[in-house]
Amino acid sequence: MPKKKIIVWFRQDLRRADNPALYEAYQEGAHILPIFIQDDKNSGQYKRGAASNWWLHYSLKDLNNNLSDHMAFFKGKADDILPKLIEESGADAVYWNRCYEPWRTSRDKKIKKQLEGDGVEAQSFKGTLIWEPWTIQTGSGTPYKVFTPFYKNGCLGKGDPQEPLPVPDRLTYADKPASAVSLDKLGLLPTDIRWDKKIEPYWKIGEDGANEALFNFIDGGANTYSEDRNRPDKNNTSRLSPYLHFGEISPRTVWNEIRKRQETDSTSLSDTKTYLSEIGWREFCYNLLYHFEDRITDKPLQEKFEAFPWESNKQALQRWKVGQTGYPIVDAGMRQLWETGWMHNRVRMIVASFLIKDLMIHWKEGERWFWDTLVDADLASNTSNWQWVAGSGADASPFFRIFNPITQGEKFDPNGDYIRRWVPELKNIPDKYLNKPWDADEDTLKKAGVKLGKDYPKPIVDHSSARERALEAYKKVKNAA
Ligand code: FAD
Repeated sequence: MPKKKIIVWFRQDLRRADNPALYEAYQEGAHILPIFIQDDKNSGQYKRGAASNWWLHYSLKDLNNNLSDHMAFFKGKADDILPKLIEESGADAVYWNRCYEPWRTSRDKKIKKQLEGDGVEAQSFKGTLIWEPWTIQTGSGTPYKVFTPFYKNGCLGKGDPQEPLPVPDRLTYADKPASAVSLDKLGLLPTDIRWDKKIEPYWKIGEDGANEALFNFIDGGANTYSEDRNRPDKNNTSRLSPYLHFGEISPRTVWNEIRKRQETDSTSLSDTKTYLSEIGWREFCYNLLYHFEDRITDKPLQEKFEAFPWESNKQALQRWKVGQTGYPIVDAGMRQLWETGWMHNRVRMIVASFLIKDLMIHWKEGERWFWDTLVDADLASNTSNWQWVAGSGADASPFFRIFNPITQGEKFDPNGDYIRRWVPELKNIPDKYLNKPWDADEDTLKKAGVKLGKDYPKPIVDHSSARERALEAYKKVKNAA
């Protein structure tokens, strides 16, 4: 009997280890046709940003190497491409791991129906999350809106996740179809200005890079994670976010390795628990995205925030984007993002609060900038976190919690190492003035070689009055409630 031929459709699961769709096809002893479709048509406004496209290119390259150059790439609408590909390849089945973005879930449902209608087997698996949104519900059968019960009762209540699946040890492949294009033809890399060259040295993209990041973290930052995860000057977080986003490592693998290390080694229970709860936040964001769709991506989850009087200020937005606000911790964060495609979580909260509350610019503007520039840009995590900072999301930080960019910098970058690294023009400013250079006297500034307004901008707004203005504006929301 001829072997079954299975298309394994890779999407946000660009790995061999713990990949349920690939593993199932392997266990069936099938001829496997691994594919990726660059589907910019169905994604609409959620077309991947430039930094994500860059990452994706190298992630696909790595996966293709690991699959001995058998990946077949396509560009276009997945719902057009798949039926044609089945005809061309004679495949019997299509397997994939589920995604949860609204545009993907509706597309995938349509495709499943279409394939089954054509007599082709279509199977989807869980590979991107540990707990899928529809499996975690409150006692009354509604989705959770608050993180702690979601995580404690919902997720942890289900016990530890299963052991991850191994890498299939020998795969047999189907012939690559003639209609496949080369990876380069997907057009994921920037063409004119090669800004990606500056980001490249910061990352090792692919499955090996993901495992390296995980084990470096386990041997290092994990041991003081609870205490130091808020310190952008230290290298204490895992930096696994882009790998998790593109699925170069599964959340189940991360969870299991962290748990194993805690049981056998020195990592304390509290550090482990804190770290695992961050993985829980990722799951929570997907839970929100799945259940609330455009009320999390486009509109405030709390409707009363529709009354907020946002301001349009192109010049201020631009200065925020390029790290020229005159607030050193904000500028350091925005420049780290531009230079590396990533920003520390504490600083993401500070810069987001600054845009929303000090500048009163709509959180969607910040979300779009992050979407284009972050290598870990993720619809669920990005939109939920922006809404969290704006105070308009589920289980959000209250609007009146306005981060003070001066004291935040002093507290979380106490020696000024982070600011001095990313805002080098301030490197000779004494610690006392590093977060508020405008308070330094002429002599101090002169000695540090800084002329405010020339070498480094004067503050774009006065934080105290901006804070008052934001609180005044917030009254509109309160009154609308
Ligand atoms: P670690 O501290 O090592 O955490 C481990 C993992 O837990 C992360 O890789 C991530 O998958 C998850 N995680 C941690 N914190 C959060 C959180 N608050 N929400 C959801 N998951 C979390 N994260 C993204 O992956 N993509 C985004 O587009 C994104 N946009 C954000 C926008 C704003 C305004 C803010 C405040 C946060 C955003 N985050 C986003 C969440 C968080 O900042 C990053 O996940 C984290 O900084 C990644 O670094 P790490 O891998 O070293 O994190």
